[in-house]
Amino acid sequence: MNKPFMLTPANSFIGTPDCDCDCACSLPTLSSDRMTIAAQSWHQAPHQIIWHNADWTALFLPHGPTSLVVLNAEGRRIWERFTMPYRPCSSEEEAFIAQAAASGLLWPAQTPPPAPTPEAAPTQLSAWLHLTNACNLRCDYCYLHKTAARMSSETGIRIVDRLIEEAKRHHYPGIKLKYAGGEPLINFQTLQSIQVYAEKRVAAAGLALETVLITNGTLLDETNLMFLKEHHIRLAVSLDGLGASHDSQRHFADGRGSFEIISQNLALARRLGIQPLINITITGKNASHLPELVAFLLQKGYRFTFNLYRENIFAQDQTALALEDERIIQALLTSLDIIDANLPAWSLLGALTDRANLHSTHQYTCSAGRNYLVFDHNGRIAQCQMLIHRPVSDLNDPTPLETVQLASTAFANDRSALKIVPADKKSECTDCPWRYYCAGGCPLEAKRATGSFASRSPNCQIYQAIFPRLLELEARRLVHHHQTETTDRSRSVSNQPAAL
Ligand code: SF4
Ligand code: SF4
Repeated sequence: MNKPFMLTPANSFIGTPDCDCDCACSLPTLSSDRMTIAAQSWHQAPHQIIWHNADWTALFLPHGPTSLVVLNAEGRRIWERFTMPYRPCSSEEEAFIAQAAASGLLWPAQTPPPAPTPEAAPTQLSAWLHLTNACNLRCDYCYLHKTAARMSSETGIRIVDRLIEEAKRHHYPGIKLKYAGGEPLINFQTLQSIQVYAEKRVAAAGLALETVLITNGTLLDETNLMFLKEHHIRLAVSLDGLGASHDSQRHFADGRGSFEIISQNLALARRLGIQPLINITITGKNASHLPELVAFLLQKGYRFTFNLYRENIFAQDQTALALEDERIIQALLTSLDIIDANLPAWSLLGALTDRANLHSTHQYTCSAGRNYLVFDHNGRIAQCQMLIHRPVSDLNDPTPLETVQLASTAFANDRSALKIVPADKKSECTDCPWRYYCAGGCPLEAKRATGSFASRSPNCQIYQAIFPRLLELEARRLVHHHQTETTDRSRSVSNQPAAL
């Protein structure tokens, strides 16, 4: 086995979390064959040292393919030889180049680091299934105009059939269904019918199926939780604080808070062997209590994501919800200090950065307008769940994915539709080292704040304040788990009975 010189999020034994947030997740768009290892001169890729101690050096790589490489002392010693173009002279240096080239740390001399390609390699076709327009809660920041309408099982089945056709036609190897609403458990029977049908039909079509339920957590019970478990449906639950700070923005229609019942249901899910993902929405109302929620979740062993409030016309109490950069940054940095003292086993890179994803480089913030379809309860199709009231296609459309993609281009006639703009075309982001990880933030937020889809995110200052600290934490987390693993391994070797 080659001697290891570095740790990266990709070669860490700690997996990349699946993204189960209430958005169209960004997908890695970088091809892996841009490098070949050959006998030639190499030099250091653009980088920033973000943390170091006597044994480890953590580097941020703006051009990727991954954001982070953590060199051990030997790796750093060899890497320093490449400040100028340098040709390897020993097998040790060649072994180092093999690892460094795969991580993007070294590049062949005279070759500039490339930008990620705008076209995503087909990985998955994602769909939001709006099972109902009804909800038993009245959260302050909800973007939905609620009615009692529900999706029928027939509509759900037609959606699955159409998704299979689209996935086959566009060569996607898999389909992801996000059961959402409103509160999707209000329409649990339809969810069951769709899931059972999708399992059969998607497998028969030779495709992979991934499913997640995005719920407010109040209607979870033993019956629906057992169904989720038996059918491998992941569970994502919204929780915005402990007690009053959660209740202040997530309450029932009569004003009662929902924290108590959700915490009981989360405990039930754990007892039944289900590990829920906690989606935290950060607003001006709950930000100052974020650190105590983070401490609680870490202590109980829950995985969680941070999502920043998105302004919308249906939100209540908009002034209180509004994000003030300084307050949000303070709350996030304090929360990251708490994480630093309790480093979890899961990767921090995709979970705590709102719409950004520090795992790998990409040109688009999310999949909206590319490989994402949002089906409302009647089977009409929108580009994003925030635009569910403005469908651009429906189930009678023989090519809905093309329709959505076309509506998302700058040339489309529908001026009210979402337009997607790659990071390289956002002039305000051109000089930003984070642009291939942030990609300018949610395009709808940019449009709302500035009138242009090509503007940078209104949360830019928040992002720039927390990204470096987050990378530092991830570096320390990788080192911490590497050292724990190494100690465990040597203990188990020394406990082996001596050979006779
Ligand atoms: S929105 Fe801000 S942090 Fe994000 S890429 Fe643009 S300039 Fe960088
Ligand atoms: S456009 Fe914005 S709200 Fe819609 S999926 Fe993308 S990041 Fe999320």
